[in-house]
Amino acid sequence: MERLAIVVPCYNEEEVLKIASKALREVLADLIGKGKIAPDSFILFVNDGSRDRTWELIEEEHRQYPGQVCGVKLAANVGHQFALTAGLVTAKDMSDVTVSIDADLQDDVSVIEEMIDKFHEGCDIVYGVRRERKTDTFFKRVSAQAFYRLMDLMGVKTVYNHADFRLMSKRAVEEFSRYKETNLFLRGIMPLIGYRTDSVYYDRKERVAGKSKYPLKKMLALAFNGISSFSVKPISLILGVGMLILCVSALAAVYALISYFTGHVVPGWTSLILSIWFLGGLQLLAVGLVGLYIGKIYIEVKERPRYNIEQVLRADREKEM
Ligand code: UDP
Ligand code: MG
Repeated sequence: MERLAIVVPCYNEEEVLKIASKALREVLADLIGKGKIAPDSFILFVNDGSRDRTWELIEEEHRQYPGQVCGVKLAANVGHQFALTAGLVTAKDMSDVTVSIDADLQDDVSVIEEMIDKFHEGCDIVYGVRRERKTDTFFKRVSAQAFYRLMDLMGVKTVYNHADFRLMSKRAVEEFSRYKETNLFLRGIMPLIGYRTDSVYYDRKERVAGKSKYPLKKMLALAFNGISSFSVKPISLILGVGMLILCVSALAAVYALISYFTGHVVPGWTSLILSIWFLGGLQLLAVGLVGLYIGKIYIEVKERPRYNIEQVLRADREKEM
Protein backbone atom coordinates (compact mmCIF):
# COMPACT_ATOMS: atom_id res chain seq x y z
CA MET A 1 0.00 0.00 0.00
CA GLU A 2 1.18 3.53 -0.72
CA ARG A 3 2.50 5.87 1.88
CA LEU A 4 0.79 9.27 1.74
CA ALA A 5 2.37 12.56 2.74
CA ILE A 6 0.10 15.56 3.23
CA VAL A 7 2.22 18.66 2.67
CA VAL A 8 1.08 21.85 4.40
CA PRO A 9 2.91 25.18 3.96
CA CYS A 10 2.47 27.40 7.02
CA TYR A 11 3.28 31.05 7.47
CA ASN A 12 2.22 32.61 10.77
CA GLU A 13 -0.50 30.03 11.24
CA GLU A 14 -0.45 29.62 15.03
CA GLU A 15 -4.24 30.05 15.21
CA VAL A 16 -5.00 27.23 12.80
CA LEU A 17 -2.12 24.81 13.19
CA LYS A 18 -3.62 22.57 15.88
CA ILE A 19 -7.01 22.57 14.17
CA ALA A 20 -5.44 21.67 10.85
CA SER A 21 -3.31 18.96 12.42
CA LYS A 22 -6.33 17.39 14.08
CA ALA A 23 -8.47 17.49 10.94
CA LEU A 24 -5.72 16.01 8.80
CA ARG A 25 -4.87 13.31 11.33
CA GLU A 26 -8.50 12.30 11.25
CA VAL A 27 -8.38 12.08 7.47
CA LEU A 28 -5.26 9.91 7.68
CA ALA A 29 -6.80 7.63 10.30
CA ASP A 30 -9.94 7.25 8.21
CA LEU A 31 -8.04 6.40 5.03
CA ILE A 32 -5.73 4.02 6.89
CA GLY A 33 -8.78 2.35 8.41
CA LYS A 34 -10.31 1.89 4.97
CA GLY A 35 -7.06 0.36 3.76
CA LYS A 36 -6.51 3.03 1.11
CA ILE A 37 -3.11 4.23 2.30
CA ALA A 38 -0.22 2.76 4.27
CA PRO A 39 -0.36 2.94 8.09
CA ASP A 40 2.83 5.00 8.21
CA SER A 41 1.35 7.85 6.16
CA PHE A 42 2.01 11.28 7.64
CA ILE A 43 1.50 15.05 7.59
CA LEU A 44 4.44 17.27 6.70
CA PHE A 45 4.15 20.84 7.96
CA VAL A 46 6.49 23.29 6.28
CA ASN A 47 7.21 26.31 8.41
CA ASP A 48 7.88 29.14 5.99
CA GLY A 49 9.94 31.36 8.30
CA SER A 50 6.98 32.23 10.51
CA ARG A 51 7.46 34.96 13.08
CA ASP A 52 4.90 33.59 15.50
CA ARG A 53 4.76 30.28 17.40
CA THR A 54 4.00 28.14 14.34
CA TRP A 55 7.23 26.15 14.53
CA GLU A 56 6.92 25.52 18.28
CA LEU A 57 3.43 24.19 17.66
CA ILE A 58 4.68 21.92 14.88
CA GLU A 59 7.38 20.58 17.22
CA GLU A 60 4.75 20.01 19.87
CA GLU A 61 2.51 18.11 17.48
CA HIS A 62 5.48 16.04 16.33
CA ARG A 63 6.33 15.13 19.92
CA GLN A 64 2.76 14.15 20.58
CA TYR A 65 2.19 12.25 17.33
CA PRO A 66 5.70 11.29 16.20
CA GLY A 67 4.47 8.83 13.59
CA GLN A 68 1.93 11.09 11.99
CA VAL A 69 3.23 14.65 12.18
CA CYS A 70 6.54 15.68 10.64
CA GLY A 71 7.93 19.12 9.99
CA VAL A 72 10.30 21.04 7.80
CA LYS A 73 11.64 24.34 9.00
CA LEU A 74 12.72 26.87 6.40
CA ALA A 75 15.31 29.33 7.60
CA ALA A 76 13.47 32.34 6.20
CA ASN A 77 10.16 33.25 4.61
CA VAL A 78 10.37 32.32 0.94
CA GLY A 79 6.70 32.50 0.01
CA HIS A 80 3.98 29.94 -0.51
CA GLN A 81 5.23 28.54 -3.83
CA PHE A 82 8.75 27.82 -2.63
CA ALA A 83 7.62 26.58 0.75
CA LEU A 84 5.35 24.11 -0.99
CA THR A 85 8.13 23.04 -3.32
CA ALA A 86 10.46 22.46 -0.38
CA GLY A 87 7.79 20.34 1.26
CA LEU A 88 7.03 18.29 -1.85
CA VAL A 89 10.67 17.61 -2.63
CA THR A 90 11.31 16.57 0.98
CA ALA A 91 8.20 14.41 1.08
CA LYS A 92 8.89 12.56 -2.14
CA ASP A 93 11.83 10.70 -0.61
CA MET A 94 9.69 9.55 2.30
CA SER A 95 6.44 8.70 0.56
CA ASP A 96 4.80 7.32 -2.58
CA VAL A 97 2.18 9.99 -3.07
CA THR A 98 1.68 13.55 -1.81
CA VAL A 99 -1.30 15.82 -1.29
CA SER A 100 -0.65 19.54 -0.85
CA ILE A 101 -3.14 21.66 1.03
CA ASP A 102 -3.23 25.07 2.73
CA ALA A 103 -3.06 25.22 6.50
CA ASP A 104 -6.26 27.24 6.81
CA LEU A 105 -8.52 24.33 5.79
CA GLN A 106 -10.30 26.40 3.15
CA ASP A 107 -10.01 23.40 0.91
CA ASP A 108 -12.27 20.49 1.69
CA VAL A 109 -10.21 17.75 3.35
CA SER A 110 -12.93 15.18 2.67
CA VAL A 111 -12.11 15.06 -1.06
CA ILE A 112 -8.62 13.74 -0.29
CA GLU A 113 -10.21 10.29 -0.29
CA GLU A 114 -11.53 10.88 -3.79
CA MET A 115 -8.05 12.03 -4.84
CA ILE A 116 -6.55 8.82 -3.48
CA ASP A 117 -9.17 6.78 -5.35
CA LYS A 118 -8.22 8.52 -8.61
CA PHE A 119 -4.58 7.88 -7.81
CA HIS A 120 -5.35 4.18 -7.43
CA GLU A 121 -7.11 4.33 -10.80
CA GLY A 122 -3.80 5.41 -12.28
CA CYS A 123 -3.75 9.22 -12.17
CA ASP A 124 -0.46 10.90 -11.33
CA ILE A 125 -1.83 14.38 -10.72
CA VAL A 126 -5.29 15.07 -9.32
CA TYR A 127 -6.38 18.72 -9.20
CA GLY A 128 -8.68 19.98 -6.48
CA VAL A 129 -11.02 22.38 -8.27
CA ARG A 130 -13.33 24.86 -6.55
CA ARG A 131 -16.89 24.45 -7.62
CA GLU A 132 -18.07 27.89 -6.56
CA ARG A 133 -16.52 30.86 -4.89
CA LYS A 134 -19.41 31.86 -2.71
CA THR A 135 -17.19 32.48 0.31
CA ASP A 136 -14.77 34.73 -1.54
CA THR A 137 -15.32 38.45 -1.69
CA PHE A 138 -16.74 39.93 -4.90
CA PHE A 139 -13.37 41.52 -5.60
CA LYS A 140 -11.45 38.25 -5.21
CA ARG A 141 -13.91 36.45 -7.48
CA VAL A 142 -13.71 39.02 -10.25
CA SER A 143 -9.95 39.42 -10.03
CA ALA A 144 -9.46 35.66 -10.08
CA GLN A 145 -11.66 35.31 -13.15
CA ALA A 146 -9.81 38.10 -14.93
CA PHE A 147 -6.58 36.37 -14.03
CA TYR A 148 -7.56 33.02 -15.55
CA ARG A 149 -8.86 34.79 -18.67
CA LEU A 150 -5.62 36.73 -19.05
CA MET A 151 -3.49 33.63 -18.54
CA ASP A 152 -5.47 31.93 -21.27
CA LEU A 153 -4.97 34.87 -23.63
CA MET A 154 -1.25 34.82 -22.93
CA GLY A 155 -1.08 31.17 -23.86
CA VAL A 156 -0.39 29.78 -20.37
CA LYS A 157 -2.23 26.56 -19.70
CA THR A 158 -3.75 26.39 -16.21
CA VAL A 159 -6.59 24.48 -14.64
CA TYR A 160 -9.50 26.86 -14.09
CA ASN A 161 -10.28 27.51 -10.41
CA HIS A 162 -7.57 25.21 -9.17
CA ALA A 163 -5.19 26.57 -6.57
CA ASP A 164 -2.51 24.45 -4.94
CA PHE A 165 -4.69 21.71 -3.48
CA ARG A 166 -3.58 18.70 -5.46
CA LEU A 167 -2.39 15.13 -5.33
CA MET A 168 0.91 14.24 -6.97
CA SER A 169 2.44 10.82 -7.28
CA LYS A 170 6.08 10.31 -6.42
CA ARG A 171 7.11 10.25 -10.06
CA ALA A 172 5.16 13.45 -10.78
CA VAL A 173 7.00 15.22 -7.96
CA GLU A 174 10.27 13.79 -9.20
CA GLU A 175 9.57 15.15 -12.67
CA PHE A 176 8.50 18.47 -11.21
CA SER A 177 11.76 18.73 -9.27
CA ARG A 178 13.57 18.91 -12.63
CA TYR A 179 12.02 22.35 -13.20
CA LYS A 180 14.78 24.49 -11.83
CA GLU A 181 13.34 27.95 -12.39
CA THR A 182 13.44 30.55 -9.66
CA ASN A 183 10.33 32.36 -10.91
CA LEU A 184 8.07 29.60 -9.81
CA PHE A 185 4.39 29.34 -10.66
CA LEU A 186 3.39 25.79 -9.75
CA ARG A 187 -0.03 25.88 -11.39
CA GLY A 188 1.55 26.64 -14.74
CA ILE A 189 4.10 23.86 -14.47
CA MET A 190 1.72 21.02 -13.56
CA PRO A 191 0.09 20.77 -17.02
CA LEU A 192 3.57 20.64 -18.58
CA ILE A 193 4.56 17.53 -16.65
CA GLY A 194 2.13 15.31 -18.48
CA TYR A 195 0.93 11.92 -17.18
CA ARG A 196 -2.69 11.10 -16.56
CA THR A 197 -4.51 13.79 -14.62
CA ASP A 198 -8.00 14.26 -13.26
CA SER A 199 -9.92 16.69 -11.09
CA VAL A 200 -12.09 16.47 -8.00
CA TYR A 201 -14.58 19.20 -7.15
CA TYR A 202 -15.35 20.85 -3.82
CA ASP A 203 -16.73 24.02 -2.29
CA ARG A 204 -14.18 26.36 -0.86
CA LYS A 205 -14.82 27.39 2.71
CA GLU A 206 -13.86 30.33 4.88
CA ARG A 207 -10.56 30.27 6.68
CA VAL A 208 -11.01 28.42 10.02
CA ALA A 209 -9.04 31.10 11.84
CA GLY A 210 -6.50 33.83 11.31
CA LYS A 211 -6.16 36.27 8.43
CA SER A 212 -5.21 35.70 4.81
CA LYS A 213 -1.47 35.72 4.19
CA TYR A 214 -2.10 36.71 0.59
CA PRO A 215 -2.73 40.44 0.55
CA LEU A 216 -3.45 42.17 -2.77
CA LYS A 217 0.23 42.93 -3.29
CA LYS A 218 1.21 39.26 -3.09
CA MET A 219 -1.76 38.27 -5.27
CA LEU A 220 -0.73 40.69 -8.01
CA ALA A 221 2.87 39.52 -7.76
CA LEU A 222 1.72 35.92 -8.18
CA ALA A 223 -0.42 36.82 -11.20
CA PHE A 224 2.35 38.79 -12.85
CA ASN A 225 4.83 36.03 -12.10
CA GLY A 226 2.47 33.48 -13.61
CA ILE A 227 2.31 35.34 -16.89
CA SER A 228 5.87 36.58 -17.13
CA SER A 229 7.34 33.19 -16.22
CA PHE A 230 5.47 31.36 -18.89
CA SER A 231 4.87 33.67 -21.74
CA VAL A 232 6.81 36.05 -23.96
CA LYS A 233 3.57 37.23 -25.55
CA PRO A 234 3.84 40.73 -24.04
CA ILE A 235 7.05 41.15 -26.03
CA SER A 236 5.48 40.05 -29.30
CA LEU A 237 2.70 42.51 -28.55
CA ILE A 238 5.26 45.33 -28.68
CA LEU A 239 6.48 44.05 -32.02
CA GLY A 240 2.91 43.87 -33.31
CA VAL A 241 2.07 47.38 -32.17
CA GLY A 242 5.28 48.66 -33.80
CA MET A 243 4.35 47.09 -37.11
CA LEU A 244 0.83 48.47 -36.87
CA ILE A 245 2.04 52.01 -36.20
CA LEU A 246 4.51 51.79 -39.05
CA CYS A 247 1.62 50.89 -41.37
CA VAL A 248 -0.45 53.73 -39.97
CA SER A 249 2.49 56.04 -40.59
CA ALA A 250 2.20 55.28 -44.30
CA LEU A 251 -1.44 56.36 -44.20
CA ALA A 252 -0.52 59.42 -42.15
CA ALA A 253 2.07 60.28 -44.81
CA VAL A 254 -0.56 60.20 -47.54
CA TYR A 255 -2.86 62.35 -45.45
CA ALA A 256 -0.11 64.83 -44.55
CA LEU A 257 1.04 65.15 -48.15
CA ILE A 258 -2.48 65.72 -49.42
CA SER A 259 -3.00 68.39 -46.76
CA TYR A 260 0.32 69.94 -47.72
CA PHE A 261 -0.49 70.18 -51.42
CA THR A 262 -4.02 71.45 -50.85
CA GLY A 263 -2.36 74.16 -48.81
CA HIS A 264 -4.30 74.06 -45.54
CA VAL A 265 -1.33 73.56 -43.23
CA VAL A 266 0.91 75.53 -40.94
CA PRO A 267 4.50 75.46 -42.26
CA GLY A 268 6.55 72.67 -40.65
CA TRP A 269 3.56 70.53 -39.68
CA THR A 270 3.96 68.00 -42.48
CA SER A 271 7.56 67.13 -41.74
CA LEU A 272 6.88 67.02 -38.01
CA ILE A 273 3.87 64.73 -38.20
CA LEU A 274 5.61 62.41 -40.67
CA SER A 275 8.65 62.03 -38.39
CA ILE A 276 6.54 61.43 -35.30
CA TRP A 277 4.56 58.59 -36.83
CA PHE A 278 7.42 57.00 -38.67
CA LEU A 279 9.99 57.20 -35.89
CA GLY A 280 7.49 56.10 -33.26
CA GLY A 281 6.59 53.03 -35.27
CA LEU A 282 10.19 52.26 -36.09
CA GLN A 283 11.26 52.52 -32.45
CA LEU A 284 8.54 50.20 -31.22
CA LEU A 285 9.38 47.74 -33.97
CA ALA A 286 13.04 47.81 -33.00
CA VAL A 287 12.30 47.38 -29.28
CA GLY A 288 9.99 44.48 -30.09
CA LEU A 289 12.63 42.85 -32.25
CA VAL A 290 15.27 43.12 -29.54
CA GLY A 291 12.65 41.85 -27.13
CA LEU A 292 12.09 38.74 -29.23
CA TYR A 293 15.72 37.80 -28.81
CA ILE A 294 15.63 38.54 -25.09
CA GLY A 295 12.53 36.37 -24.94
CA LYS A 296 14.47 33.50 -26.49
CA ILE A 297 17.34 33.97 -24.06
CA TYR A 298 14.85 34.03 -21.23
CA ILE A 299 13.27 30.77 -22.29
CA GLU A 300 16.68 29.16 -22.78
CA VAL A 301 18.15 30.13 -19.43
CA LYS A 302 15.29 28.38 -17.69
CA GLU A 303 16.77 25.07 -18.83
CA ARG A 304 13.46 23.41 -18.33
CA PRO A 305 13.24 19.74 -19.12
CA ARG A 306 12.05 19.50 -22.70
CA TYR A 307 10.18 16.24 -22.33
CA ASN A 308 9.11 13.73 -19.78
CA ILE A 309 9.46 10.09 -20.81
CA GLU A 310 6.70 8.24 -19.07
CA GLN A 311 7.44 4.74 -20.17
CA VAL A 312 9.85 2.86 -22.39
CA LEU A 313 8.79 -0.34 -24.05
CA ARG A 314 11.67 -2.62 -24.74
CA ALA A 315 11.82 -5.72 -26.88
CA ASP A 316 12.54 -7.76 -23.82
CA ARG A 317 9.41 -7.38 -21.69
CA GLU A 318 11.38 -8.05 -18.52
CA LYS A 319 13.32 -4.84 -18.96
CA GLU A 320 10.24 -2.65 -19.15
CA MET A 321 10.59 0.50 -17.08
N1 UDP B 1 1.84 30.79 3.04
C1 UDP B 1 3.20 30.49 3.10
N2 UDP B 1 4.11 31.49 2.90
C2 UDP B 1 3.73 32.79 2.65
C3 UDP B 1 2.33 33.08 2.56
C4 UDP B 1 1.42 32.05 2.75
O1 UDP B 1 3.60 29.35 3.32
O2 UDP B 1 4.59 33.65 2.50
C5 UDP B 1 0.86 29.68 3.25
C6 UDP B 1 -0.19 29.96 4.30
O3 UDP B 1 0.27 29.59 5.58
C7 UDP B 1 -1.34 29.07 3.84
C8 UDP B 1 -1.19 29.07 2.34
O4 UDP B 1 0.13 29.52 2.05
O5 UDP B 1 -1.20 27.73 4.30
C9 UDP B 1 -2.21 29.95 1.64
O6 UDP B 1 -2.24 31.23 2.21
P1 UDP B 1 -3.59 31.99 2.56
O7 UDP B 1 -4.61 31.02 3.06
O8 UDP B 1 -3.25 33.10 3.49
O9 UDP B 1 -4.02 32.56 1.15
P2 UDP B 1 -5.53 32.75 0.59
O10 UDP B 1 -6.26 31.47 0.81
O11 UDP B 1 -6.09 33.88 1.36
O12 UDP B 1 -5.33 33.07 -0.86
MG1 MG C 1 -6.45 30.52 2.47
